[in-house]
Amino acid sequence: MTLLTVDDLVVDHRTPGRPAVRAVAGASLSVAAGEVVGLVGESGCGKSTLARAVCGLVPAGGGTIAFEGGRVTRLGLRRRDRALTKIQMVFQDPYASLNPRRRVGAQIADGLEVAGDRETTPGGMLERVGLPGRMAGRYPHEFSGGQRQRIAIARALAARPSLLIGDEPISALDASAQAQVATLMRDLAVESGAGLLFISHDLSVVRLIADRIAVMYLGKIVETGPTAEVWANPRHPYTQALLRAVPEADGLGRLPQELAGDVPDPADPPPGCRFHPRCPAAMDVCAEREPAPGPVSCWLYPPA
Ligand code: SF4
Repeated sequence: MTLLTVDDLVVDHRTPGRPAVRAVAGASLSVAAGEVVGLVGESGCGKSTLARAVCGLVPAGGGTIAFEGGRVTRLGLRRRDRALTKIQMVFQDPYASLNPRRRVGAQIADGLEVAGDRETTPGGMLERVGLPGRMAGRYPHEFSGGQRQRIAIARALAARPSLLIGDEPISALDASAQAQVATLMRDLAVESGAGLLFISHDLSVVRLIADRIAVMYLGKIVETGPTAEVWANPRHPYTQALLRAVPEADGLGRLPQELAGDVPDPADPPPGCRFHPRCPAAMDVCAEREPAPGPVSCWLYPPA
């Protein structure tokens, strides 16, 4: 069952006195129940903005977001809040996402209350994420970064979400904790039948946990497909460049290659294909006309 469908989503950032910046420029993706979708791309490509729009934290300027069969982008704010209680988000910074003045057990209890769950205890939720239940009486500053992120996951899962979104949830963690926390999120989400949208710029971790991958560049999804297929045969030149930048992406021990050039200013994106100033395969048409959206949005693979 498809849980989330994002279709041609547009999100603009507006700052008084400055031109609007189109952070998401017609992006489409879907997440099914029990499915893990990895959303990848360089910093500033619009991944987090897309996630925030899905959660109702920033308004959509165009396109639609449908969740559990209902179009949430058509609802007023109050009805949208109610419709979106089944989406929980785990944020990047485990230090900022927990209230430092409240015991972690009380914060997890908030999630249990949202779900109307009177049987599960905060200590039981801590044990699900690999921490001793007796730690429920402690304050956030008594935990490491990796432990805090586990607590944030416990709090999110306590609300029994249908969809869990991880917005760069491992990027602030030690390398040793990254794969553990990502795998934990995947296992717990799938075990509870929820979908997981996992946002990261770390492709090696996404490869480890995601069923499908969506590659985003400057506000648009440029390639989607099953993770194993995209990894074995990346088709979009941007996906190819991203994979070349992953250490030992091909298992042959070659050195990673940094992506050439910088991400253009989203306030003034290039015409045609947004990747054309950095693309080694660019043709004349690429600077003039935008390729159609699709599994691979590129003039090298025109739709049939
Ligand atoms: Fe490169 Fe052209 Fe494809 Fe864009 S459309 S990725 S510039 S080949």
